[in-house]
Amino acid sequence: MSLNVMNCTRCGKLCVRTVSEICPACMKELEVQYESCLHYLRENRGITLQELSDATGVSVKQIIRFIREGRISMVNAPNLTYPCEVCGTPIREQAICPSCRQRLMNDFNQAQQDEKRKDEAKQQQEGVSYQIKDRLRERNK
Ligand SMILES: [Zn+2]
Ligand SMILES: [Zn+2]
Repeated sequence: MSLNVMNCTRCGKLCVRTVSEICPACMKELEVQYESCLHYLRENRGITLQELSDATGVSVKQIIRFIREGRISMVNAPNLTYPCEVCGTPIREQAICPSCRQRLMNDFNQAQQDEKRKDEAKQQQEGVSYQIKDRLRERNK
């Protein structure tokens, strides 16, 4: 048995380990999908993501992956957007829209503040219990 094998993350088949975590067959298939997206996009610049997916048979998810990988450029495709991962608003950059980003940031700050408050409360409690222990010790003297 060799450790130099893996399960392709795309089709699940056992194959020789590659750098991209997908098997050569899937890689080839993705390449064909990528080419057809690129080709179609070149001829139809006003196309939307859904239309591109319908026309090429490539899943929306995969096209988004191409976009995120920077392989498909949205510069020449003004109508190409993909949904924000949180609220679904059409966006053209990053994984989530600016308003969700803001909200996540606020949530994050809130969580940090909560954490700080919890720490302070804990410290106070510990302080109190030390005092009680001290008092008990004094009483036992
Ligand atoms: Zn595969
Ligand atoms: Zn959003």
